[in-house]
Order: sequence, then structure tokens, then C-alpha cells
Amino acid sequence: MTISIQDPIALIDGPSRLAEPSDAPGDTGHRIVTGDRPTGPLHLGHYLGTLANRVRLQETGCPVTVVIADYQVITDRDGTGPLRDRVRMLIAEYLAAGIDPDRSVIFAHSLVPALNQLMLPFLSLVSDAELNRNPTVKAEALASRRSMSALLLTYPVHQAADILGQHGTLVPVGKDQLPHVELTRLIARRFNDRYGTVFTEPEALLSATPAVQGIDGAKMSKTRGNTIPLGATDDETAAIIRSARSDGLRRITFDPVARPQVANLLTIVAALTGSDPRQVADRVGDGGSAALKTLATEVINESLRELRRRRTELLTDVGYLDEVLLDGSARATATAVSTLDQVRRAMGMDYFRG
Ligand code: ATP
Ligand code: MG
Repeated sequence: MTISIQDPIALIDGPSRLAEPSDAPGDTGHRIVTGDRPTGPLHLGHYLGTLANRVRLQETGCPVTVVIADYQVITDRDGTGPLRDRVRMLIAEYLAAGIDPDRSVIFAHSLVPALNQLMLPFLSLVSDAELNRNPTVKAEALASRRSMSALLLTYPVHQAADILGQHGTLVPVGKDQLPHVELTRLIARRFNDRYGTVFTEPEALLSATPAVQGIDGAKMSKTRGNTIPLGATDDETAAIIRSARSDGLRRITFDPVARPQVANLLTIVAALTGSDPRQVADRVGDGGSAALKTLATEVINESLRELRRRRTELLTDVGYLDEVLLDGSARATATAVSTLDQVRRAMGMDYFRG
């Protein structure tokens, strides 16, 4: 049974949700904005859900901006954790995956005050009922096993500030983020209706694998501790996959409803090899879960080998990683300041202009 490893970047294609080129001033095409919380190492869900698409879009010439959402770390926990190390690790992982800091911007919330200020007018554009019915926020509050903080309730509004502050038009995200992108669109629409057109409504871009499950069958997520980290060693990956939930049936079939964990492994292998999950199931045939897990381990380790090598190398040069963040944050600040100026002008707060 051989499955060839192909370039996953070329294969992770979203459904046809690509919007028309935006008509934002000075814009000739899409501006990509997306990001992650620095709450731990990136995992296969990030890679297959959004990271590979970011790189793919960068390669088509779109400007890509990646937000390291450090203020959002404290939406559902009491402290920031080992933030400096986690931020550096995220940057190393972005670059190792193919984000090019000369063409793309990587910045942190805390380094771009103008972005955070946008949250104030945006908060006035949504009701508490709209925030309270967001299913992703509800699920995250539940997973955190604590009462919902006001920052958790309002973080989709903060996300609107991330996207609209950078005039993003296309947002490559996992499925859990769709309600947030919808809210961003609503905020853009309501702002434009009230104050005149400043914003383009962005589109979400899903990959073919928008909801990768973790080894326990729930959404793969840093907080849930059920991940296959991009930076795991070959042996760690093998051990993680061995412990993944599956079932005892000998014949491997692709049945996401009746056999979700088996389907998840098949989907991961298919996404990384450019095949169909059913084909992968046929190839494993009567090998059962053990053969499927061996195959998944081989494919994941092979697909991530080069990324892991570059990641290790990059982590030895923290000075460079810090420079990338500083430079990206300066560029994101310039854009956010100009957006905030547009917003103030639209709202009649440009007191000192002629
Ligand atoms: P946390 O548990 O701290 O919230 P996370 O693992 O959910 O971490 P985020 O930083 O919240 O990761 O998500 C960053 C991006 O990665 C978002 O676009 C999100 O939709 C996407 N993503 C995260 N997990 C998955 C997954 N399991 N499948 C597909 N996409 C995912
Ligand atoms: Mg999350």
C-alpha cells in the first residue's frame, strides 16, 4: 500500500467562496487577514484548516496579515502563561510553514493599539443578544469550565477589529470561526450604513478540512490537549496517533456519521496526500485501525518533515523571530492607524482637521 505525498499547499482548496476583488481604496485584489491565539503550539487542525491556505494565498500574490491574538489568550484563563516563548514559537511555525515575512505581515494585538481602539465603536454596533447566541463562544465558555468573561463574550467584535482594521477581504479560517466572520460582516455593514462606506464585507474561506478532530473525537484544539502538534517528533506523533480513538472493525470504511474517528484519520491522510478519503479507506482495506494508524503516522511525519526541520532551525534564532514581529507590528500599525483615522472622520471625531 503506497500513498504518495504531494504538496499539501497546492491541494488544500476551499469551496468556491472566493469573493470578487475588493474595491477598497488602492486595493487590486484580496487582502488576507487571519490569526491564532498564542495559547500553545500549532497543530494539524491549524495546518489543514487555515495555515496551508494562508501560504497558498500568499503564493498567489495576495497580501497576507497574520494576527497573533495575544489579548485573546485571557478570554478564558486567568493569566497569559509563557507568552513570550509561545509567540516566538508561533512565528517560527508560520515561517516554517512558508509564510514569508518580506511579503506577509505578522503582528501581535498588544503591539497595535489603534486596532484595539476600533473595538469601541464596533461594540456599539452589536447587541448583547447577538453576542450571546454565538455558538462558538458558547462552546468555548463551556470548555473553559468557568463563567464567561466579558472579553470572551466580545472577542468576535475584537476579531472584527483585527480584520476590518487591516481592511481584510478574505479570511481563511476553520469552521468554528464562521459565526465570527458573519459578525464581522454585520459590523462592517452597520458601520457603513450609519457613518458612510469605510469597510468591505470580508468573506470566510474554508479549506476542504475545516473541522479536524483531535485524538479524543472533539475539535482538535490547543486548550483541549487533544492535538497532533506540528512540531511533534516522529515518535511523539506515532504515540499520539496510537492513542487516538478508533474502533475495532477490521474493514476500514469512510463513514463520518457512524465512524467519526476513523473518518477523521482518513480525512487527514487524504488531505495530506491529495486523495479522496474513500480511496484511502479502500487501500487500508481489512487492515483495521492498526494499519490505518500506521499509515496516518507515516503520512503526517513525511508531510511535516521539512516544516519541522525549518521550525527547529528558526527557534535557535529568537533575535530574528523578534525582528519579524516588530517589523510586522509596525506595518500593521500603519494600516490600523489609517483605518482608525477613516473611522474617526466618518464619525465626526476628526476635530483638528481643517
Ligand atoms: P485554543 O484552544 O487556544 O482556542 P485552537 O486550537 O482552537 O486554540 P485557535 O488559535 O483558536 O486554535 O484557532 C486559530 C485558527 O485555526 C482559526 O482559524 C481556527 O478556525 C483554526 N482551527 C483551529 N482548530 C482547528 C481545527 N481543529 N480544524 C480546523 N481549523 C482549526
Ligand atoms: Mg480556538
